Amino acid sequence: MKDNEAHLRRIDTTALWHPFTQMAGYGSEKPPPPMIVRAEGNWLVDVRGRRYLDANAGYWCLALGCRPRSVERAVHAQLRKFAHSTLLGLTHVPAIKLAERLTTLAGPPLDHVFYADSGSEAVEVALKMAYQFQVHSGHPERSEFLALGEAYHGDTLGAVAVGGVDLFQTAFKPLLFPVRRVPPPHCYRCPWQRKRETCALECAQALERAVARHRARLAAVIIEPFVLGPGGIIPQPDGYPERVVSAARQHGVPVIFDEVAVGMGRLGTVFAFEQLGLKPQVSSLKPPASSLKPDIVCLAKGLTAGLLPLSAVLVSSRIYRAFLGTTLEQRTFFHGHTFTGSALGCAAALAALDRIAAPAFLRHLRARTIPALWRALEPLRAHPHVGDVRGRGLMAGIELVRDKRRGVEYPWARRQGHRVVLAARRRGVNTRAIGNLVLVVPPLTITADEIAFLGRVLYESVEEAT
Ligand code: PLP
Repeated sequence: MKDNEAHLRRIDTTALWHPFTQMAGYGSEKPPPPMIVRAEGNWLVDVRGRRYLDANAGYWCLALGCRPRSVERAVHAQLRKFAHSTLLGLTHVPAIKLAERLTTLAGPPLDHVFYADSGSEAVEVALKMAYQFQVHSGHPERSEFLALGEAYHGDTLGAVAVGGVDLFQTAFKPLLFPVRRVPPPHCYRCPWQRKRETCALECAQALERAVARHRARLAAVIIEPFVLGPGGIIPQPDGYPERVVSAARQHGVPVIFDEVAVGMGRLGTVFAFEQLGLKPQVSSLKPPASSLKPDIVCLAKGLTAGLLPLSAVLVSSRIYRAFLGTTLEQRTFFHGHTFTGSALGCAAALAALDRIAAPAFLRHLRARTIPALWRALEPLRAHPHVGDVRGRGLMAGIELVRDKRRGVEYPWARRQGHRVVLAARRRGVNTRAIGNLVLVVPPLTITADEIAFLGRVLYESVEEAT
C-alpha cells in the first residue's frame, strides 16, 4: 500500500486541483492531508489505517455520519431500478415522493419544490426565482437584493454577489451584480460596539431601515437564518431572524432563507425556520405561523445525509402562482440542469428524512446531543487564547485570539486555526479552520462518548497550538 500511496500522493499534487486551496504550497504540506480510504460510523479511516472522528461532517453534510446504512441501502435499491432520467418532459417516482415529503414537512404556504444540484445552485435558483417573480408581478424595477455582511451563500457568481465575505469576492468584483448590504448581527465583534447590556438590536434596526428605504427596488432579502455559517459561525441574537421576516413582510418584500447549512436537523429541527418565534433551546416545538415563514427556502448539504449532491428550493404558493400562464406569456421558470432532481439523490434524501425527521431522533438531538456538545466546549471559554466560543445547535466556532482582553486577532498569515486543526488531527479528530476560527460541525449522530473525546481533543489542541 505504501508504494501505491506514494504514487497517489504524486498525482494528488500534480494532477488534482483542490477547491479553495492554494496549490503552490499543497504538495509540501507537512504532514500531508490524510488520504481517506474508508469510513465507519462517525469516523474516517486513512490509507495508513489512522482513524479520525469527523467533526467537520464532510463539510457539514454527513448529517447521519459517514456510513448511514439505511441511506446507502436506499441508494443501492434505486440503482437497481435506474440511476437517472430527467425531469424535462418526464417525471419519476423518487422526485415526486420527495416533493410530497418536503412540502408536507414544511407546511403551507411552502407547497412547491424545485430541485438543484448544490447549495450554490439552490441559491442561484432562489435569486432568479425572486427576480422573475417581481417581473411577473409587474415590477421589473425590483431587481436588487438585500443581504448581510459576512454572509456566505455559495461560490457561483450570483451566490458570490449576495455573499458578504471580502476574501471570496475580491477576485470577481467586476463580474458581480451590486447588492444592498447591512452589517452582520455579530455579537462578539459588534459593528455598533454594543455589549449585551447596551444592545438594542441595532443590527435588526439597520436591516429594518434598509428594507423600508429600498423596498421599491428590492427583489428579495436573503439571509442565513439563526447562524451565519462559513462567514464565521455567527449566531444571531434572539429575535433577529423574526425581525427580518416581519420587516420584509411589512414592506411586501419576499424573504429567502438560505438553510443550506442550518437546515436538515443541524439546529435541532428539520428546517431552521421552525424555530422562528420560539425561545432557543426549546425541547418541544409547534410550527410557526404561516405569516412568519420565509417565501423561499434553500436546502442542500444534509438533504441526502451527504451521500449525493442534491439540493432543493421550497417555494411558497404566492411565488409559484406568479409563474403560471400560457407558453406565449413566457412565465416559465427558465432554469434546470442535466441532473436536476437526480433519482439517486431523491432516493437518498427520502431515506435521510426517514431518520432526520423522526420525532425521537429530533428529541434526542435537542435534549441530549446539542446540550452535550456545548457542555464539552465550555472549558474552552476560559482559555487565555480563546476569545469566543459561539454558534447554535450542532454548529460551533472557536475564535482564537492573541490578546483575549482586547480581542486582538492573530495575523492571518500565522494560520493559527490551521495549527489547531493539525494538532487535533494528530489526536484523531478531523476538523477545519477559517483563519482564526476553528469549526466544529459534527454529524448529528455523534455519541456522548465521542462528544467528550472531541471536547478533550479540542482543548488540548488549542493549548498546544497557542
Ligand atoms: N449557503 C450556505 C449557508 C453554505 O454554508 C454553503 C456551503 O457551505 C452554501 C450555501 C453553498 O453550498 P454548496 O457548497 O453545496 O454549493
